[in-house]
Amino acid sequence: MTIWARAGFSGKHRFAAKFKEKMRANAVHWRVFLTQKLAILTKKQPRNKLSLAPTIIFIVRCIIGSLKTHLPHFSYNSPKTNFIYTTMSELNTIIQHNEQFVEQGGYAEFFTNKYPEKKLAILSCMDTRMTKLLPAALGLENGDAKIIKNAGAVVSHPWGSVMRSLLVAVFELRVEEIMVIAHYDCGMRGLSSSTFLEKAEAHGIPHDRMDTLRDAGINLDRWLTGFDNVEDSVRDTVKTIKRHPLMPANIPVHGLVIHPTTGKLTLVVDGNTTCAI
Ligand SMILES: [Zn+2]
Repeated sequence: MTIWARAGFSGKHRFAAKFKEKMRANAVHWRVFLTQKLAILTKKQPRNKLSLAPTIIFIVRCIIGSLKTHLPHFSYNSPKTNFIYTTMSELNTIIQHNEQFVEQGGYAEFFTNKYPEKKLAILSCMDTRMTKLLPAALGLENGDAKIIKNAGAVVSHPWGSVMRSLLVAVFELRVEEIMVIAHYDCGMRGLSSSTFLEKAEAHGIPHDRMDTLRDAGINLDRWLTGFDNVEDSVRDTVKTIKRHPLMPANIPVHGLVIHPTTGKLTLVVDGNTTCAI
């Protein structure tokens, strides 16, 4: 029996029931969020004493509370009630989903081992449009490739963690081919250090801290500058990987750009050709 049924909602309050159905059809976080809030409400209210008006008000407040989660600058406080809506991260939602996932054996279809089936490593952007699009557009299943992600799909330093990951993939995980796959409409295109640092200050980072970092020899402006042309950036990153002193010469390094909506690939560097770089 659901919380709503226990609270005497079934049949009598059709609007509330429909609303619940709508919420159930939405994303998991909505279901968990409302369930939690309704559980609180039913504990506070005697059985069968919930009327429609306060229920609607409660649901509106739930939505407002949820908006606060997703819109950090949105604030709502009601001094007349005892309801306190604190910002809720996705942590609880994910933990609850995970418990169900494991209990129901959702992992079974993803079973594989640590060695990539296609002996392939991909460096791609962290853009959320790529989360499922990239493997789907490439025809990759779970376990087919090592996928390393960062902002822009760039190797910004030959001795940084991205380059190390690629070398680990080659020497420890049997990778024999590398692809750098950036995408059009990337947030790193045109990234400006001055704008970036202004936003850092707006988030409470004191200006003199930037000066201290510069005085310590950290080139913030270079570090926080993106690229102007994504295909040029791909070529540069392919070069950095291919010419790395620890990268074996027989590992082909390809460069591609993917469309973030259609998934269409544009080949920029064919690592199989001898004159690719
Ligand atoms: Zn991107």
